[in-house]
Amino acid sequence: MTDAPKLYHWSDKQFKNEIHMSHLSTYCRCPQQMYQKYIRGIESGKKSPELVTGSLQHDFMKKQLRLKRDGNTMNSDEIRDYVADQVEEKAVLLDMGDSEQFKRNKDKMIEQSIVLDQDYISKVTPIFVERPFEVHFSDLDYSFAGQIDTNRAIKKGVYKDASGIEYNEQKIQNQHYAVDDLKTSAASPSQNKFFGFNPKPEHWLQHAGYSLGSWIAAGFKASAFQQTLNTTVYLVKTKTPQVKLANFIVTKNDIRFLYEMISSLEKSLKTGLFPQNPLGWWCNPERCEAFYKCRRKEIISFESLFYKEKENG
Ligand code: SF4
Repeated sequence: MTDAPKLYHWSDKQFKNEIHMSHLSTYCRCPQQMYQKYIRGIESGKKSPELVTGSLQHDFMKKQLRLKRDGNTMNSDEIRDYVADQVEEKAVLLDMGDSEQFKRNKDKMIEQSIVLDQDYISKVTPIFVERPFEVHFSDLDYSFAGQIDTNRAIKKGVYKDASGIEYNEQKIQNQHYAVDDLKTSAASPSQNKFFGFNPKPEHWLQHAGYSLGSWIAAGFKASAFQQTLNTTVYLVKTKTPQVKLANFIVTKNDIRFLYEMISSLEKSLKTGLFPQNPLGWWCNPERCEAFYKCRRKEIISFESLFYKEKENG
């Protein structure tokens, strides 16, 4: 397998024999997009204000969670000052300057941060924040590495998984904490996404990855994996910001699938085979940075031909 000729050529420097969560999520969405983005290194251009505000919001959450873990948090006034300073520092990137728009965005971010603090951070007990992990597999050359947003203590309670099965604290075996992941969302998550019946595959894969990472970082053997409770914390940035939580139980089967994906990506890296996956909502110039580099255009003309034939009966 390793001696097969490569369809694409690259220097393997970027990977250093490590597969990261971002590589895997993108690969799951479209192998060709992963190749273009992380191997050919396509520039994503100027960052959109949404991306910058999303990452600032993430930074605020991590800072406040770390302070909470150490027994000391910012109060509302301190949050206001902290977030205002952060946004002003990034004003150039946000391209908002002194405009009215900038003021509105800054106020919005302050409001969102206070909601995040009141409805999530103040209610949890963080144990680890930004916890790095690295998983080595005996039969793979590449390791799997990443960083978990938060591990928090599990409170007594009942959690429902994607299939509606209820779990209580005792059933989350060998695990005294949950894995939390923060996402910002422009709209309230759909029922499907929220209750996890049909989460986006790459999104779901992240849960499996962070669970395995937490498990290994805690010193357990991968083969002993039972199940973990994962929560996506959605900061919903609607007119009235709110926090929504979606619980997922990650099981052994999910970890098996994660392993298969890591193993597939390793095979692609060794053979240079990165097929296009043009079936998703992301396959358009707005959402895929690689759109104009990819041979998708040929697929589009083929598709139009096919539909034309169908139209003509
Ligand atoms: S345009 Fe579509 S097929 Fe091509 S890399 Fe992007 S997502 Fe993949």
